[in-house]
Order: sequence, then structure tokens, then C-alpha cells
Amino acid sequence: MSPRLLIVEDEVPLADSLRAGLAREGYEVDVVYDGASAVTMLSQGSWDIVVLDRDLPVLHGDFVARFLRDQHSPVRLLMLTAAAEPSDEIAGLDLGADDYLTKPFDYDVLLARLRALARRIGEPPGGYELGALRVDPRARRVWLDDVEVHLRPREFAVLLELLRAGGAAVSPASLFDSVWGPEDPTDEAVVKTVIHSLRKKLGADSITTIHGVGYRMDP
Ligand code: CA
Repeated sequence: MSPRLLIVEDEVPLADSLRAGLAREGYEVDVVYDGASAVTMLSQGSWDIVVLDRDLPVLHGDFVARFLRDQHSPVRLLMLTAAAEPSDEIAGLDLGADDYLTKPFDYDVLLARLRALARRIGEPPGGYELGALRVDPRARRVWLDDVEVHLRPREFAVLLELLRAGGAAVSPASLFDSVWGPEDPTDEAVVKTVIHSLRKKLGADSITTIHGVGYRMDP
């Protein structure tokens, strides 16, 4: 699966050339040009890596970084900045950035940093634990109160997408794209059906509906 990348950069030519270049490298790339759009996107979908310019219009990059940290988002954060002061770097890392690159940066260096972050994407070593629910992504097994629950492959895949979002809401469209694939002719309503059967198996309260946004599992 290609790492999903969100680029948040207000210099449109730079953002667009990064989009084209990184898509060629095999990343699935989305771009937004201001901090408020980034927060909207990040609360509705999930990405593996966010490349975040610090100096952004509408909402500052530090606000976006703080938002991700407060959401306990599992997303890897690479911050870009024009500021070269060491104190700025420390501030970025304090805000939860995994890495930091000063503008103007070398494109090959960016690629190397992204590859390093992509290697760190993965499931938590001990799997996921949410209250009475335990999920082992590698073994594809699920337990509720230490009793194994048998999920069908689509149910398991949807559950994993919700867990990976780390408590953020995931839209039905994003779940559909991740689990069925954007080319699948199946109707998006299947997402609702799978959520329904997951609630039957894992408890009615296991998945919260956020009206008009999507579904969420509280961490
Ligand atoms: Ca900027």
C-alpha cells in the first residue's frame, strides 16, 4: 500500500511541484494551501505522513501541529520552515513534529526524510487495545473481553482503518476508498452495513457516528 501523504504548503508552485514529484515516487498525495483546510482534512480523513509548512495563512502551521498532537494522531509529521533559528527547530519538535527541514531544502533530502518516516509507519508493536477490545493486526485476530471475535475480511479492514485514525473521525468515502478501493463499483452504502455488523460483534458503543463527518473509535 502506498503511503498517504498530505502536503500543507501555501506556496502554490512549490506545493504543486511536490505533489507531482512525490506522486511519481509512489506516494498517494493530497495538497491543501492553508492551515484551516489542513485541520478540516485531518479531522475527516487519515494520512500516513503530513508535510507541514510552518508559516501558513489562516491558521499557523504550529496550530496544525498542536491539533495533531492533541488528537493523539498516529500520523508522521515533517515540518518545513523558512526560519533557520535553532530555537524554531526545537519549537517544532516540541509540537510533536517527527522531523524538520529548513527551506530552501534539497529535494533529494526531502525524499530521504520521507522514506525514513515511511519506514516508521506501521502498527503499534503490541497491537491495539481499546477498553475491552484487543486487536492484533499482524495475526488479523480480535478479542473482546479476552474472547476471540471472528470478523470477516472487510469488517477487519474497516476496524483497522478506524483504529489507525487514532480517535479521529473517518469519512465513509475514505473508508470505502481504503477498504474497497476507489475503482470498486460497489455502492458506498456497504460501509454502513459493515459498521452495523461491527457494532453487533463489538458492542453498540464501539463505534461512534459523527453526523455529517463519519465514524470514530474513541481511544
Ligand atoms: Ca509558507
